[in-house]
Amino acid sequence: MTPPARTQRIGMFGGTFDPVHLGHLRSGVELCEALELDQLHMMPAPQPPLRDRPQVSAEQRLALLKAGIGDTPRLIADDRELCRDGPSYSLLTLEALRSDYGTEARLIMALGQDAFLKLADWYQPERLFELAHIVVMARPGYSPDRSQALLELLAGREVNNVAALMATPHGRVLSVTLPSPMGISATGIRQRLARRESVRYLLPEAVEREIAHQCLYRLPEGGR
Ligand code: ATP
Repeated sequence: MTPPARTQRIGMFGGTFDPVHLGHLRSGVELCEALELDQLHMMPAPQPPLRDRPQVSAEQRLALLKAGIGDTPRLIADDRELCRDGPSYSLLTLEALRSDYGTEARLIMALGQDAFLKLADWYQPERLFELAHIVVMARPGYSPDRSQALLELLAGREVNNVAALMATPHGRVLSVTLPSPMGISATGIRQRLARRESVRYLLPEAVEREIAHQCLYRLPEGGR
């Protein structure tokens, strides 16, 4: 007898990726392993609603993300937020993924600890749980303190293991500490590039090469 088909497990990992770095990519790989994801859609946002405008165009950030992912199994550079007009609300992206993968798929929105702490300020945050689970990745240097609004949003949703998360298609929250937490940030990388300092081993070589080739993130001459 053929065993029943396993329910798909699909991840979404959004961000500015300005630029993508090893903290993002290693987290993506370890998240796929920890949750046994079939695919992780990494999605650059054109103009994230709660941030200043990125220095480098969305298309350039997507190209760097593609270069960084290379042939890594299960990671996908997904441009759907760049193809949509209007603000890049995660809710709309999750709706699109839900429609692609169907009602039974386990849909997981992955966030680093810093992004998670701001979740209550997002667009219609309670509706995110009608579409997906949320998995929070510990990130070195960020406090675990939660606001009252966040505590209210999470009430009754938290689980403490992957099996409990995967028991339903959406609606739960799991906090994880992945095996290799990295204290790398895109802010730190941009500052180093602006000062023309080395970024070796903070991001993939292919991304470093592309940034150097296009002279991205440099201050104009005299601006240092
Ligand atoms: P910036 O320094 O410009 O704020 P960033 O390094 O935080 O950038 P983002 O593109 O803003 O990168 O982050 C996208 C997602 O990746 C967020 O959920 C963020 O928490 C997560 N993330 C970023 N860096 C790491 C890291 N080193 N480890 C785990 N998660 C990370």
